[in-house]
Amino acid sequence: MVKKYSSCKKYEQLIIEDLKIKIKPKIFYGTDAKDFIEEYGTRILGKNPNGAFLYQGIPDEYKNTGVVCIIKDSVATLAHELCHAKQYQDDTKWFNRGLYLKIFYFFRYYYYPTEIEAFTYAEMYLKKVELFKEAEEYSKLKRKLAIEYNLIYAFIFIILGLLYAFLLSKF
Ligand SMILES: [Zn+2]
Repeated sequence: MVKKYSSCKKYEQLIIEDLKIKIKPKIFYGTDAKDFIEEYGTRILGKNPNGAFLYQGIPDEYKNTGVVCIIKDSVATLAHELCHAKQYQDDTKWFNRGLYLKIFYFFRYYYYPTEIEAFTYAEMYLKKVELFKEAEEYSKLKRKLAIEYNLIYAFIFIILGLLYAFLLSKF
């Protein structure tokens, strides 16, 4: 396990210090991470299958810090999820989502404030530690997500527009 996640293990403490995280969150790797997500994860794994940050409905001992789950040995994923751990410790306002924020998160995931920050931080961190190849790949992923979520947004407006036109023609 430790060997398999050598990149992440190497950067774990460095990222925690870089983010100035006060209390080190629990970090699970590999099958431990998968098992934890399976047991306590409420959101769909498909969206970010490389890792996740869990904070709701988890055992009491982890509630103050949340839990970082890392499935892929990727410094980008670790930096991204640890950024969520930092955000969560600083302020939970974006994490305790009511209906409006739930809808926002679902349809605008990439543009959700905590996500934008985590994606930006991870890319910045990769460049900072000169993992340029990883930074380039991550930047591509960001562009892909930005396009996807803008298309979803455009699609919603088209549907609403058609619905509006339909209602106008009826009444
Ligand atoms: Zn995220």
